[in-house]
Formats: sequence, C-alpha cells, structure tokens
Amino acid sequence: MPARAARGADAAWRHGWWREARACPSPNFGPRPAGSEATLVVVHSISLPPGAYGGPDVERLFTNTLDCNAHPYYEALRGLQVSAHFFLRRDGELVQFVSCDERAWHAGRSQWRGRAECNDWSIGIELEGLEGQGFEPVQYRRLAALLRALARRYPIAEVAGHEHVAAGRKHDPGPGFDWARLARTLRRRRPRLAPLGAAPGETAGRS
Ligand SMILES: [Zn+2]
Repeated sequence: MPARAARGADAAWRHGWWREARACPSPNFGPRPAGSEATLVVVHSISLPPGAYGGPDVERLFTNTLDCNAHPYYEALRGLQVSAHFFLRRDGELVQFVSCDERAWHAGRSQWRGRAECNDWSIGIELEGLEGQGFEPVQYRRLAALLRALARRYPIAEVAGHEHVAAGRKHDPGPGFDWARLARTLRRRRPRLAPLGAAPGETAGRS
C-alpha cells in the first residue's frame, strides 16, 4: 500500500489530533504555509516554575491563562503567546494543544539543515523537565510511541532538539536528554526515524 494512503487511513488521528493524548486546545496556532508538511519533530523541555513538576502552569501558559503575578519568573512571560503541539509530563501523561495539521508556536527564530522557520514544517513536543536534569523512563517510552504514531501519519524524517534548531539561543532539552536512548528505543520498531538531534560526536560542534 502506498505510504500516503496508509497515512490517510490512520484511525489513531482525527484532524491532526492524536486519540491517545488529552486535548487541551490552545488559541496559539495558525495554518502551515501552502506546501509545508511536517517533516521535522522539535523536542523541548519546560517546567513552570522552572524545576517544579506536576502543576497546571504549562497548560495555562499555552492557553494564555497563566497568572503572571503568581511567580517572579512569570513576569518575563507576560503577554507571550506560545504553544507546542504536545506536552509530555513526567508521569507519562500526554496533553495536545494544537492539531498537528496546524502550525504551533514553539521554535521561534530557527533553522535546521539550511531551512528556516521550523514552526512552518515541524511538530513541537515539550517534555516536562529542566535543562541539565534527566527525564523519566516513562517519558522516553511515551515519546517513542508518539514519534512512531507521528511517523505513520506525517512524512517525519528527523527529530531534533530546540537547542539544535536555535543553536546558541536555546538550550533545551539540554544535556540531561539522552538522544542515544531515544534512538535505541526507536530502532527496535518501525517506522524508523533518522537519528535524532545529533549522532554521537555531532552535537559538540552544533550546540
Ligand atoms: Zn524549547
């Protein structure tokens, strides 16, 4: 069966929403430019306040309902309109904010392999975490499952970190994220995805 037909028939997806994620729609999205398909996944890390896990404030940030008086760190977030397609919590819960058919606002000024404006042609996944800290085993497992589901539905060719597509400006998910572990997890199952952010030894020159 042609890959395209297989993608169109995928019952796991409905208008770009994955059935295994909890939908929490964000107003922060727009159409992808004509002819731009999602071929890249950008992995991020976030926690609000930084280093505090399990609270509601990431969802609030992505839905423009964060109380910016609630924490000194939030002053810098006032008026910000951002989103990601997915937020993967440390307990494995997965929240989806934007249809993968649409353009979410996660990468900012960015480029990857010479192509700019990664938001136009990528899917953004935020992992609940903090730059420099590690991630939970269940986050790797759920991320791998999500990446496989995305690769069945969209022509995803590669996965990179925000630190790779906005080198020098962004540093997430950071050195605590184990790209080799994700690659190993993905290699065991199809569809395969090209490794991932950076092959060993490739990161140093880029970040
Ligand atoms: Zn980021």
